[in-house]
Amino acid sequence: MATTFSTHLKSINPATLEVLAEVPMTQKAAVLEALEASRIAFKKWSSLPLWLRLSKIEKFSQLLLDKKDEIANLISRESGKPILESYLAELSGPLDTCDWLSKKAQKLLANKRLHLNNPLLFGKTHYLQFEPVGVVGIISPWNYPFSIPVMTILMALAAGNTVILKPSEKTPLVGLKIAELFQQAGFSENVVTVISGDGEIGKELSALPLDRLIFTGSVATGEKVLNTVAPNITPVSLELGGKDAAIVLADAPVERTARAIVWGAFTNAGQACASIERLYLVRGKNSDALLNRIIELTSQLKVGNPLLETTDVGPLIDVQQFDRIVEQVEQADSAGAEILCGGENLAHLGSALKEKGLTGYYYQPTVLTNVNHNMKIMQEESFGPVLPVMVVDSVDEAIKLANDSIYGLSASIWSKNLSQAEKIAGRLEVGTVFINDSLYSHAATDLPWGGIKKSGIGRSHSYFGLLDLVNVKNINVDSALWFSRLWWYPYHSAKLKVICSGFELLYGKKISNKMGAFLDFIANLFRSK
Ligand code: NDP
Repeated sequence: MATTFSTHLKSINPATLEVLAEVPMTQKAAVLEALEASRIAFKKWSSLPLWLRLSKIEKFSQLLLDKKDEIANLISRESGKPILESYLAELSGPLDTCDWLSKKAQKLLANKRLHLNNPLLFGKTHYLQFEPVGVVGIISPWNYPFSIPVMTILMALAAGNTVILKPSEKTPLVGLKIAELFQQAGFSENVVTVISGDGEIGKELSALPLDRLIFTGSVATGEKVLNTVAPNITPVSLELGGKDAAIVLADAPVERTARAIVWGAFTNAGQACASIERLYLVRGKNSDALLNRIIELTSQLKVGNPLLETTDVGPLIDVQQFDRIVEQVEQADSAGAEILCGGENLAHLGSALKEKGLTGYYYQPTVLTNVNHNMKIMQEESFGPVLPVMVVDSVDEAIKLANDSIYGLSASIWSKNLSQAEKIAGRLEVGTVFINDSLYSHAATDLPWGGIKKSGIGRSHSYFGLLDLVNVKNINVDSALWFSRLWWYPYHSAKLKVICSGFELLYGKKISNKMGAFLDFIANLFRSK
């Protein structure tokens, strides 16, 4: 039987299930063509002076401001994100990245002189030159379909690279919008290429000899990507999933902590890599009050139309995501968890949402307790509006449980006692620790983003992210042309004595040995040529 391949991606509004558009898929053969065209564009783009590249990034920034309503509206329609989050979480990071680059890139990418420790290397100059790597592939998820790829594209472009982006098949229109914006900002053809497609097209891109691949997505796909890039030894950064823990100490102020945790758990309907997905509440006189306030605030969240300014929580992206939450909550429920609020599929209940045409994948924000680490909801990434809570007897127990995870993206600690919180931060196995807040640092360009354990490899954003996008070339200049170096031929015993006495002089800790070494060094130095 002949296999039929779909040629178009359907962009679906997850709130209404309306088909927004059908986007033609890039054909497999065209992915290689995109790489070849990008390599040609790279030659010109990388040869432009940095100030000229930055001036185009400034134009892009202005365009983002001019078109912010159009961009935010599209993101909310295609991803189901509340409109306020489409402005704040999707646009602030890219705008900050443009500003950060225009203020800092000149200094960060300028040659850096190094002063070496070893005096035997006198007469040499050493410096680092930061060169673009070439064509950077970016494969991005649907949950922050604009900010995640755009922040990295901007960094890559400033460093002189060209980019090929493969956005998620679930948000293809946002992907096309990104291409359109770079084109409108005056970037030449093929400096930023967007290919539309599904996972197969992502695989096709990863299999090419890219100069770097930045992948953001799930652990399962990240593992596949590692295998795909292996034959070309393509340098790869993996920004993968999380199961982020919040540890609330007994002294945490009730109202502020409850508000912040409810936001950290339910922003973007919990579909953020660093959402709070596990809450460990250290038993104390306030713990009941805090839990009650969390339940109260969660029950008050306005679930609804993402385009309304007052909506707090939108739908899940699709039926797979929805089914995963239903399964985790049902499994926890049948294993003895207590559902304190939520736990229901709003659309299936024929609620008021349905009457408004909101027939999409709505799930009521849910808080559970009596959970344990044998349950999927405490082990697997949920990526949905659920917050499981464990009340524990001590800080040590909370830390042990927080670290009992294959993930290590971020964690948060909530307390008035900042010095105790900072000590706990040192004991958590994650890439980022928040004290009295969560999540927000993804949008702060200065701060590195990335995880340990199965949450990934490498860091994006910040100076460290910029370094991942350049070849750090070490240039060594010997200006002592009158001088023959010790390590050159011929080898002989006087040279060996200079080497050994030199070791003693440079690295020896015993003063008594140093005098002999000095005499040996001088005696053999002129014989060692
Ligand atoms: P997926 O892993 O399903 O997909 C991520 C991207 O990879 C998509 O563009 C996808 O395309 C593409 N893809 C799928 N299969 C392959 C393949 N074999 N080779 C190459 N690319 C492929 O993740 P989601 O899109 O569902 O995103 C959610 C996940 O991303 C969560 O686990 C979340 O924690 C993580 N994430 C991590 C972040 C971080 O910074 N650490 C930030 C945001 C999300 P398509 O969608 O078309 O199938």
